[in-house]
Amino acid sequence: MIFETTKRETEFPRTFGVKVSAVYRGAFTLPEGTTLEDGELLRKLCRLLVKKILYIYSSYRSKITAKRLSFLRPLSRNTENLEETPIQCFSTRILDDLAICYRRAWFNLNSVPTRIKKEIFDHSKIREKRLKTFFLQEAVKRGLNALNSSLGFFHTRYLIGLRGIADIALAEPFLIIEFCLTPICSIKHILPRVAAYAFAYRLKYGCSPLALIVSSHDLSIAVVDYSNFHYEKVFKELSWLRKIDIKYVTPTYSRYCNSCIYRLRCPKEGS
Ligand code: SF4
Repeated sequence: MIFETTKRETEFPRTFGVKVSAVYRGAFTLPEGTTLEDGELLRKLCRLLVKKILYIYSSYRSKITAKRLSFLRPLSRNTENLEETPIQCFSTRILDDLAICYRRAWFNLNSVPTRIKKEIFDHSKIREKRLKTFFLQEAVKRGLNALNSSLGFFHTRYLIGLRGIADIALAEPFLIIEFCLTPICSIKHILPRVAAYAFAYRLKYGCSPLALIVSSHDLSIAVVDYSNFHYEKVFKELSWLRKIDIKYVTPTYSRYCNSCIYRLRCPKEGS
C-alpha cells in the first residue's frame, strides 16, 4: 500500500469551519468481495493502517498538545444524566444531516417516525465493520490504549446536548478515528461530527486529539483540522430547527434528495 500526501482545502460551505488539512491517499482499493472471505488480507491492511496512522500522529504531535481549553467555556461535558434535566440530547449524527440539508436535520431533530430505511445486504458496510474490528485488534496488540469511546457535551445556553460514539478513540496516542464508506473526496458532511467528537474528547480527557477520517473505500486517511469549528453556529441552528415549523425550513442541497431517507415525507418545493 502506497500513501501519497496531498494538501486539500475544502470549499464546502456547511462544514462550520472544519477543514481537511491533509490527505494521505491509499493506492490500494479493496476488490469487491474481500469483505466476507479474505480476513487475512484485511488484517494485513489494518496492520499497515495502524503503522501509517502512528507515523501521521508522530508528524502532528507537536501541533496538537498546546491548545487552550478556555474557548470551549460554554460547553459542558456532563451528559450522563441529561434525561433528568431540561436539556435535550441528540445523536452526534445530527451534524451530518445539518451539513447536508436543513430539512433533513429538521426531520432528524423532530423524530418523524416514518423514516424510510432500506435494510439491504451491503458488502461495503460489512467490510467497513470488519476493518474497524481488525484495526482495533491490531492497535491493542501494539499496546495502544483504547478508550470507552462514548463522547458527549452540551451547550449551557441553548440547553442542547450531543452524544455519540466515535469509531475509535485512543489515549496515548491521543486519537479520534472515524471510518467511512465514501471516497475521501466526499467526506465533507462528516467533518462537523468528527470535530464534535474531538471537542468532547478534549472536554473529557483534557487534551486535544488528532482527528482522522479513514475511507474504507480506498484506505485513504484525512487529517481533520477542527481548530476553527464554529460550534456556536451549530447549536444556534439546531436550536432554531428544534422550534420552527417545517414550512419555514428551506432545503439546503437538493442533490442529496434521491438517497435521503426522509424523501417521501419531505414537502418538496412546488408539490
Ligand atoms: S428529500 Fe432532499 S430536501 Fe427533503 S430532507 Fe431530504 S435532502 Fe432535504
